[in-house]
Amino acid sequence: MSVYRARWVLPISTPPMENGWVSCHQGVITSLGQGSVAEETIDLGNVAIIPCLINAHTHLEFSNLDSPIGTGDGSFADWIQAVLDYRASSEIGAGVIASGLEQSIESGVGAIGEIATVAAASELESEYQESVGELIAYREFIGLSESRVAELLQQAEAHINAAKKKKWQAGLSPHAPYTVHGDLLSGLCSLSAVHQVPLAMHLAETLEEIELLEVSTGPLRELLDRLNVWDAAGIQSPGSIQAYLEELNKCWRASVIHGNYLDVDHRRFIGHHRDVMSVVFCPRTHAYFGHSEYPLEQMLAANVRLALGTDSRASNPDLSMIAELGFVAAEFPNVSAEQLLLSATHAGAYALGLEKIVGAIAAGASSRLLVVPCDDATLDNVHQQVLENLHEFSHLQCEQM
Ligand SMILES: [Zn+2]
Repeated sequence: MSVYRARWVLPISTPPMENGWVSCHQGVITSLGQGSVAEETIDLGNVAIIPCLINAHTHLEFSNLDSPIGTGDGSFADWIQAVLDYRASSEIGAGVIASGLEQSIESGVGAIGEIATVAAASELESEYQESVGELIAYREFIGLSESRVAELLQQAEAHINAAKKKKWQAGLSPHAPYTVHGDLLSGLCSLSAVHQVPLAMHLAETLEEIELLEVSTGPLRELLDRLNVWDAAGIQSPGSIQAYLEELNKCWRASVIHGNYLDVDHRRFIGHHRDVMSVVFCPRTHAYFGHSEYPLEQMLAANVRLALGTDSRASNPDLSMIAELGFVAAEFPNVSAEQLLLSATHAGAYALGLEKIVGAIAAGASSRLLVVPCDDATLDNVHQQVLENLHEFSHLQCEQM
């Protein structure tokens, strides 16, 4: 067993501890506390020990891109088309998942919500297995046709069963309202509840999506027509974001990815059902597409459990959660550093269903922790200092399993 002492320990799930200590054994935190301790300690000095960061939403298959795909200025449908063209022209290269995992761990991430496409899941599965941190492989489902629902739900069950023998854990991801048949969505939500696996869905991401749902027109409708997959019955159009939220609330855990255009009633609903539902905000991807200002303060005021993600390198220059936090702190000076750290740790872990393992410093959780310099921090500014100095973090080298 090793015992580490630090000027500050920020468990996140409980208040900060000045002159705190954390003991761990074989990769697991055994206890923590404040003040003196009987065992010999390793004194880390003027630092804060915090949980590793959680990237609640990404697509690792794009981790080797040097720059985002297309431009964020045009229609979202155009960007989707550019992603489809990219997928058609280049295979998912060997090593891309491993590279994305490495980039994540280098930026202090200890758990990832990864959207796994069919190709990524089958060809690169061994790379998921190599993951140093915790990995939820949300298997992505796209299918507007009623005739494919049964087959896709069987694949979902197979994915859940396969994960039982693996180091990674299963999640389910009905892609978005404009690509998923209503029966497929409800089947996946029910599998999430029965097997207690998390589910994630892109929802209320663009005004084009809202237009499609409400009046069945616009650039996304044109894209679906062009691809010859438009199916008004499958998309439940005319439909509403609220109908999707009510379906998602039947899951064990459901992440609303982006939620850029959730209105006041949607936010209230999600906040009210925070035991099930979370929203994942991807700040730099939001900026890439030039959306109207993110309703971050309104979400928090509605008690929404707000996690953070990088999204993929198809819409973001890198996979750094530290850069994401720096960006959002600058954009939203009224949101506290304490809230941002909570979003980047415990809230993300909860959304992934991993809150007992990562995202907080607690007995029984993983000892995958970060050490951040904090010169003369007080209780009033320790979160702020940690946020400002996060780029200087090091991994706590506690013995791992
Ligand atoms: Zn995404």
